[in-house]
Amino acid sequence: MNDRPDSAPVLPAAPTLDQAALARALSGRHLIGGRLVPAASARSFDVINPATGEPIGNAALGEAADVDAAVRAAAAAQPAWARVPARKRGAMVASCAALLREHVEELGRLIALETGKALRTESRVEANTVADVLEFFGGLGSELKGESVPFAPDVLSVTVREPLGVVGAIIPWNVPLLLMALKIAPALVAGNTVVVKSAEEAPLTVLRVCELMNRILPPGCFNIISGYGPECGAPLVEHPLVRKVTFTGSVEVGRIVARAASSKLIPVTLELGGKSPMIVFSDCDFEKTVAGAITSMRFTRQGQSCTAASRIFVERAIHDRFVEALAAKVDAMVMGDPLDEKTDIGTIISPEQFAKVRAYIEEGTRTAGAHARACSAMPDDPALGKGLYVRPHIFTGLTRASRLVREEIFGPVTCVFPFDDAEAVLAEANDSEYGLAASVWTNDLKRAMRFAHRLEAGLVQVNQNLVVQANLSYGGVKSSGLGKEASLEAMLEHFTHKKTIMVNYA
Ligand code: ADP
Repeated sequence: MNDRPDSAPVLPAAPTLDQAALARALSGRHLIGGRLVPAASARSFDVINPATGEPIGNAALGEAADVDAAVRAAAAAQPAWARVPARKRGAMVASCAALLREHVEELGRLIALETGKALRTESRVEANTVADVLEFFGGLGSELKGESVPFAPDVLSVTVREPLGVVGAIIPWNVPLLLMALKIAPALVAGNTVVVKSAEEAPLTVLRVCELMNRILPPGCFNIISGYGPECGAPLVEHPLVRKVTFTGSVEVGRIVARAASSKLIPVTLELGGKSPMIVFSDCDFEKTVAGAITSMRFTRQGQSCTAASRIFVERAIHDRFVEALAAKVDAMVMGDPLDEKTDIGTIISPEQFAKVRAYIEEGTRTAGAHARACSAMPDDPALGKGLYVRPHIFTGLTRASRLVREEIFGPVTCVFPFDDAEAVLAEANDSEYGLAASVWTNDLKRAMRFAHRLEAGLVQVNQNLVVQANLSYGGVKSSGLGKEASLEAMLEHFTHKKTIMVNYA
């Protein structure tokens, strides 16, 4: 920790593998206008390692004054940034990708430390994906094209894509680097400047990413502030100079953000929750599908994913065999120290989420007729005794009315049901307030295509269930959100507006 809170910390330019020292060096700072600065109030809040319950550092406690400083810095930088040729902006974002690629190991270790996500299966993967996303958008500068519109002889009528101005981005803790990258990369390439409000549980690794990118980008283009939702997130949405908000988080907060944005009449992109169905037919490739259920349920991320396959429907002929095979496979996964290469599954993020997930599990276990299979042994290392570990649970025998089946748990809990009839299972899969992702597992191409078209979801996958990929539009329908991310269209539609210019040369 810094002895003098007003002195800017010195962060290593080279990658460091001492994640504890890096967490301390990043403590107590926002990054505003190219500088690491303490909160206006000089206050901070602890950042806790969920595997040990110990603080690893702290984060600046941002409030309206910090939001104002960050938004003003972004607004001051925006006109000059918009004048940088689009391809050059893209090239700078691509240079950031190359720099971050050198820091993958460092970023992976730091994210594991602050979120409890296992390094090998999750955190290092996420750090790499961030570089992928920046590289992808970095190549899209030339795609910010307009059209010429036939109007009248001697009138040249064209559209041009212009940036929106300052973008406010609010991100969650589950995949903070990747979800931040999906927002900042297209926003910056399109000529906007950005203020990110990090998630209170995971503010340090994203701050390091911002600090590294600020070594390449002009000051003020990419700012980041930390703080709590109502005190720091809300003033960001409400700030008069913020011209666009992009948010990933809960449905409940998404509605608050959308209301605030609508009263300012600014566009908003929302990526919210999910209760994603996985539908397994008996003609599937059995082993591939069982392995696919583990990926689909994001068990290596403790199920903390809005696309987690938390409702699995299996054709009755293979249901029992499928449940047993899935339970056996999950049981063989290693829960342990997130930084240990042997670990498959780390911890839940926070005591609040831990209590919430445990409450769902207890409710499911008490439900008459339900059967819970608790998989994977708790870690036996005494140093992890206070770790927020939850054994993955596979439930069968729950009714459709159960809260576990209807609500997003955001933990390692899935419910499996047998089905007999394809039409009935399709209706059941669609019987949810959410519509983010879905998957179908079958070797019958006609059936796969019928389901792909009729499932109410922003993303349907057949015989696979990958996480969000650069270049493929991602975003839900129904209560799962508004707008798309991750693609060229997402950049054009959500981070630019089309201006029409008419030139009469008669
Ligand atoms: P989660 O359950 O994943 O934590 P939340 O929706 O609570 O999801 O939080 C996602 C992000 O939204 C976090 O950065 C959080 O601080 C922020 N947030 C929470 N409440 C508000 C609010 N009223 N206005 C703006 N942002 C908020």
